[in-house]
Amino acid sequence: MSALLAVIGHPVRHSRSPEIHARFAAALGRPVQYVRIEAPLDGFLATVRAFAAGGCSDANVDRTGGGAGEHGARAHGCNVTVPFKGEAWAACARLTERARRAEAVNTIHFAEGTGEGWLGDNTDGAGLLRDIEDNAGVALGGKRVLLLGAGGAAAGALDALLGARPAVLIIANRTHGRAQALATRFDAIAQGFGVRLDVAAPQAAGIGFDVVVNATSASLQAQLPPLPSGVLARGGLALDMMYGPAAKPFLEWARRLGAVPRDGLGMLVEQAAEAWVTWFGARPDTRATLAALRRDVDAAG
Ligand code: NDP
Repeated sequence: MSALLAVIGHPVRHSRSPEIHARFAAALGRPVQYVRIEAPLDGFLATVRAFAAGGCSDANVDRTGGGAGEHGARAHGCNVTVPFKGEAWAACARLTERARRAEAVNTIHFAEGTGEGWLGDNTDGAGLLRDIEDNAGVALGGKRVLLLGAGGAAAGALDALLGARPAVLIIANRTHGRAQALATRFDAIAQGFGVRLDVAAPQAAGIGFDVVVNATSASLQAQLPPLPSGVLARGGLALDMMYGPAAKPFLEWARRLGAVPRDGLGMLVEQAAEAWVTWFGARPDTRATLAALRRDVDAAG
């Protein structure tokens, strides 16, 4: 029997998740149907409940993602994207440690029939870390890391970034109070891993970082957070969580500084692979999927 999965967000039409999961399913030989569902802004929970109960109304399901509703498919879980990760966190009966700390859930396993309730996980940070360390080949241990942003994506990334034991991790955000709150929430974790965790205004973030991760949505507005010259060590890694045309200004900026630019496509594929571990206990190999998506994104310009 096929496992029925979905990405639920608003908007969701742009999501590449169906393509990614279809590739994983083919590679692992596991029958999966994966669709996009656009939930109304005030109707996230009702949408997930309906989907988990086995139904998805034709009105909001994008069947191009993989043909939902095939006879016999059973809702197994879902991904959650903007702007519902916080609502998903609040709705889950059980949370993984990393989701609990992030206060955001991007993966739900329904675990129907077990009586245990929905399990909420956050695979964003693990996906980011795997992309940085395995795909880009940059080990974070002992490094200086600058995390730009203090929204859901930054919160999701922190657990994994701290677990990689950089020497220093600075959070820099436009709204200082949000960065401070995030640092306070993760203070004990940072201490446990021996990481100096601090906050700064973007323009006073410091210099010579080995890795800069842009977890802001500034790129969507074709903006760059204001950063000091010298913020990146020469040859450092500059990763924007966005990909496609939106990421270009940040990646161009990184190139001009002699840094290694990297977009968020690898993170996207890796967080999806990590979701398979949550759903099925098996991790798909990501190389072929990432290469195929890279070709598509590059071809689209
Ligand atoms: P949120 O809305 O929760 O947070 C947005 C963050 O961006 C805040 O820190 C906000 O600062 C900051 N920001 C927004 N506009 C500007 C600006 N013009 N200048 C400086 N800072 C700005 O969004 P998320 O954290 O959920 O997502 C952030 C980005 O990460 C999105 O673009 C998303 O697509 C991407 N992402 C990519 C993933 C992947 O797999 N590749 C996974 C998850 C997210 P302030 O607090 O001051 O408002």
